[in-house]
Amino acid sequence: MTSAARARIGIVGFAHEVNAFADPITRGHGLEISQTPGGLAASWEAAPLVARLQTAGVEVVDLPSWEFGATGPLDGEHFRTIVAEAVQAVRDAGPLDGLAVLGHGAGRTTDDLDPDGTYLAALRAEVGGAVPIGIILDFHANVSHLMCASVDVLVGYRTNPHIDIAERLVELADHMVRLLGPRRPVIAKAVTPLVLPQIAQLTTEGEPMGDLRQAAERLCGGDVWNVSVFGGFSLGDSPDAGVCVCVTADDAVRATTVVNELASLAWSFRDRYRMHTTPLADSVALAAEASAGRREPLLLADVADNPGGGAPGNSTFVLAALAAAGVDDVMIGLHCDAAVVGQAWEAGVGAEIDVVFNRDSTRPLAVPFEARATVLALVSDQLVPTKGMYAGSHRHTSRCCALLLHVGGPRGVRIAMSAHPVQCADDDTLLHVGLDPTTASVVVVKSRGHFRAGFAHLFRDDQIIEVGAPGVATCELHTVQWQHLARPSLPLDQVDTFEPVAEVFTGWPA
Ligand SMILES: [Zn+2]
Repeated sequence: MTSAARARIGIVGFAHEVNAFADPITRGHGLEISQTPGGLAASWEAAPLVARLQTAGVEVVDLPSWEFGATGPLDGEHFRTIVAEAVQAVRDAGPLDGLAVLGHGAGRTTDDLDPDGTYLAALRAEVGGAVPIGIILDFHANVSHLMCASVDVLVGYRTNPHIDIAERLVELADHMVRLLGPRRPVIAKAVTPLVLPQIAQLTTEGEPMGDLRQAAERLCGGDVWNVSVFGGFSLGDSPDAGVCVCVTADDAVRATTVVNELASLAWSFRDRYRMHTTPLADSVALAAEASAGRREPLLLADVADNPGGGAPGNSTFVLAALAAAGVDDVMIGLHCDAAVVGQAWEAGVGAEIDVVFNRDSTRPLAVPFEARATVLALVSDQLVPTKGMYAGSHRHTSRCCALLLHVGGPRGVRIAMSAHPVQCADDDTLLHVGLDPTTASVVVVKSRGHFRAGFAHLFRDDQIIEVGAPGVATCELHTVQWQHLARPSLPLDQVDTFEPVAEVFTGWPA
């Protein structure tokens, strides 16, 4: 098949970001996007890819596309079923001229450290070397050898917060169309001994990862199809979690040169990465100043309890510390506690209730917290944010409520609660339950970095504090019991020198 006009490209997917320290999950936690109303063409995860391929005259074939978000490890048996079903679906689809894969690239199952590689190799084995495979990956991908060996083109998000997903999907579509021709690029990859906490990985201006991103963009174009810099996801506890550069280019020498240059640059920035959060006590002291009107309103990011990093969104360390210090006029979101949400729904708006967050919990990271509360709002509509990385997407918050907790100071703590963990990545998530963050002195979000895109209109960088409270998604990497991480790596170990050695992948034998 050489004519794009009659080409058939299948879209298939497995996207999972594992927090190795979170509870295991089953396939029931995932969403099969091609089965959602409107199929892949209507999903924010795939719509720009589908539209661009169709504009190029390609027939798009919807195949099973699983999305798991950030969770604990996936049950190994369930994963094998997903792989088998994907392979069968590709077989049943008849002859395809290409496969576009919706990936994330930081998965893990209960018995596989590299399910992304396993998944891609199974697809490759099914279609053979002649059918091109392209994949889109999250900026936080942990990119393995087997992943690179199994695909022809690899496209990673360039931004963190991830505000270029649609653009990258369009880019992948263009590569897929290019791959309908006879030419096959090579992929080169180099990994650095930098295992960075998530707070060190922003790609905004002035951040080292932002400078890397700009350098990568300058090197892209012409015979260089794609340059992707991956921050990696340390909490996946994967041997592939280091900062990594992948280049797809026409020839191996060029790809290798670009990869080594960028990997060296990433290493040269090693003293600039922000490795630590602000201790909880210091964060609370700053919040007290804001609450007393002695400084501008503050946004406290409870980074360690970020559902976007696989945390349950139920830790009470920041809430308890603010309350104990008498900090007034606080707003928090989203705190996940299905039992308390249910209690609020039963009591109704305006009711006074006694609540216990994490009731009966014996988990050290989910400590109970008691308070008298007034029910401010009950909401069950779908949340569709208008800002940041989730703009226009449908978020599954299920039942929510807003409570006024009579703790801290006279104005108390207004808290937005959900029955499922949902990252508070934008002010729309608070407005959804009737809480306006412009009316609080201190706003606490359970988010690690994506909130920066959705709160940028309200808080400057110098009004943001990344709080060092404990949590499943901690950024304090020295507190974690690592098992599989590549060592030695900065900042966990002393590493004095590094010379990148690019690995080159020339495609699967046809
Ligand atoms: Zn990510």
